[in-house]
Parts: sequence; C-alpha cells; structure tokens
Amino acid sequence: MVPAAPAAPARRGRLAAHGHNVFAEMSALAERYDAVNLGQGFPDTAGPDSVVEAAVRALRAGHHQYPPVPGLPALRRAIADHQRRRYGLDIDPDRETVVTTGASEALAAALLALTSPGDEVVALEPFYDSYAACATLAGATLVPVRLRAPDFTLDTRDLAAAITGRTRVLLLNTPHNPTGAVLTPGQLHEVAALARAHDLLVISDEVYEHLVFDGVHQPIAALPGMFERTVTLSSAGKSFSFTGWKVGWASGPADLVTTVREVKQHLSFAAGTPFQYAVAEALRLPEEYFTAATDSLRRRRDLMTDGLRALGFDVRPPQGTYFITADITPLGERDGMEFCRALPGRAGVAAIPQQVFYADPDAGRRYVRFAFCKRETVLREALDRLKEGLA
Ligand SMILES: *Cc1c(COP(=O)(O)O)cnc(C)c1O
Repeated sequence: MVPAAPAAPARRGRLAAHGHNVFAEMSALAERYDAVNLGQGFPDTAGPDSVVEAAVRALRAGHHQYPPVPGLPALRRAIADHQRRRYGLDIDPDRETVVTTGASEALAAALLALTSPGDEVVALEPFYDSYAACATLAGATLVPVRLRAPDFTLDTRDLAAAITGRTRVLLLNTPHNPTGAVLTPGQLHEVAALARAHDLLVISDEVYEHLVFDGVHQPIAALPGMFERTVTLSSAGKSFSFTGWKVGWASGPADLVTTVREVKQHLSFAAGTPFQYAVAEALRLPEEYFTAATDSLRRRRDLMTDGLRALGFDVRPPQGTYFITADITPLGERDGMEFCRALPGRAGVAAIPQQVFYADPDAGRRYVRFAFCKRETVLREALDRLKEGLA
C-alpha cells in the first residue's frame, strides 16, 4: 500500500491573515509615480547633529560587539533619569528597564511575555498594524474598542464593555497613531480605575510622548496603583527622528520587565551598540530641543490642517503624533483604499487608507492618513499637487 502523502505544510504560517502590507504597496505606487510620499511615517530630516556625532564617536571608539541583553547601562540610566525628570517616575535602571530593537520589539516581547494563548488584549481601534499581528503571534485575541468619530475620543464605557473574564492586557497608545488623539487626564484615570478593578496589566505605547501639541504627556504608569501593572514603551525613532536606528525600550516593575527581557533575549538578543550610546545622550538633550521640535511640528500640523480643509477634506487637528486623519466623504469619495491607490497617479501624492487599522474595515473606509513629519516645502508641494489633482 502506498502511504498517503503527508499533508501539505502550512506555507503561509501564523500571520496568513495579516499578509497585506499597505505601506509597501503605497510606497511602491509613490515611487512609480514619483509622488510626494506622505504614507509611511518617517521624517525627511535627520535628528540632532550632536546625537549623530555621539554615534560616530561610539563607532570610532570600537563599540562594535553585542551590548548586554537588557541594554547598555548608560542608556538604561538615561531612560530612568528621563522618566524621573519628566514624569516623577522612580525607575531602577538595573531591574526596571530593557532596551529593545525599536518599540516594535518591545511590543512583541511584552505581548508574548504577558499573555497566554486564549487571553484577550483590549486595544483602541484604529490600531497600529503590529498590535493585531503580535497578539496573533502570542495566540491572544485582540479586542478592539473603537475611538468615537469625529474627534476619535475614547468613551471609557466602551472600554468597560469590552472587558471579559479573559481580558489580560489593556494595550494603550497615547498620543495615538493613526488618529493623533491624546487621552485626557480624566480618561486616563478612568482607564486606570478599570485596570485596577479587573486586575489587568497595561501595555502603554508612548512612542509619541514628545510629540504632544497642547500640554504635556502623562504616562498612565504615574497614576496611583498603576506602575506595578504597567509596561511603558517608547522609542528614539519618533522622539529624535532616528527611525532607522531602531532603539526602543520598555520600563515597568521588575517582575514584568524581567519576563519581557527573557522573551526579548530570544527575539533579537540585543542590537545597535553604537546607537545605544548615542540615544543615551539624546535622552539628556536640554528641554529646548524638545520644545523646538514640537513647535516645528505644530506649525506643520497647522499647515496641513488648513491646507487639507481648504481642499474640502474634513479634518480635525491632531493633538499629538505626526499624522493627520482626513475624511474623504466631503469630496464625494467613499473608499479610502481606492482613493489612496489612485492618488499617486491622480495627484502625485501618497497617503495611507485608515481602514487597514480597523478590525472592521467599514468603520475606517472614509478616512485616510497623511504623515506631516516632512519639510514644510515638501508639505506645500503636496498640497499644491492635491489641489491640482483633485480639482
Ligand atoms: C512607530 C511606532 C512603533 C514602533 O516603533 P519603532 O521604534 O520604530 O519600532 C510602535 N508603536 C507605534 C504607535 C508607532 O507609531
């Protein structure tokens, strides 16, 4: 008897349902049509020279080998000092921080470390694309809580309704990508109260902590009873315009950070020794650096808000991040994906359809996202082209 052929191996793997990369698609279209690419969110200018020089010095000093798994001590001290100085958080650099390959790895490691298969992770919808993918890798289920249009506000009653006996983690992101919303102190207190009442862990993605246009960022870890249940994530990519360096970190109570470190050790092990030296210096930049960076970005936000409004989009000025959400329906458009696929050819500009950030694409169909972390001349050029192309 001929044995039955073995079943074909699964060739698409765990992330089969997450296969489409809209950033790659829109960037390819941008290239084909030589479009101004306001799709993927990376700045078109470098971060501070002094920080670049620190990286060069670290290279010249021969720092080429593996850093310690938890990160260079100098960087961990700088992270702890930054959290104390800005937020009054008292973090032990040796036990309560871990340096990661961007916030992306911190997020993956935290979800893999803190959830078990079958657990539910509640996240604000629309959500950053790797949230759902990483939850899937962990065998957990992402449960979306939709931010309410038109201002993308969190109604904490929606959050309360999403919590079940299986909920393990609240995955927050403030300032929020893609909407630019910032949770208010009142909302943060209500979220914290829910986390305490249901004994949940919080993973708080604060990569845009320095890109807040009104007031100062408030980490949920600083609220009463929250430090011990919260892992806070951040990154040098967004704060200092070094997205390609991929230096991120997580901080939180020693027991949670230890489990995150254990997972991270088997993801990247460690990375970016010279860049870690440089980011240690970046975190100690004077307050004027951060103020000037935010002021510059605020001007560009206003330019884009006014410009897109004048073209007929419905936009609300984002309160943080470098993304602006535009509703295309006043233009007679209905589908962001179609709109964004056509836009590079039609107007020479690329954007991202917001529906890819929704569990239910219908809910985000009318929105597209423009990144405004580009030079003013580039943004003006994009607005001119849109005016022409959409006319
Ligand atoms: C960019 C981004 C990340 C990833 O940060 P890296 O440091 O580039 O890995 C994580 N979360 C959000 C919301 C982001 O926008």
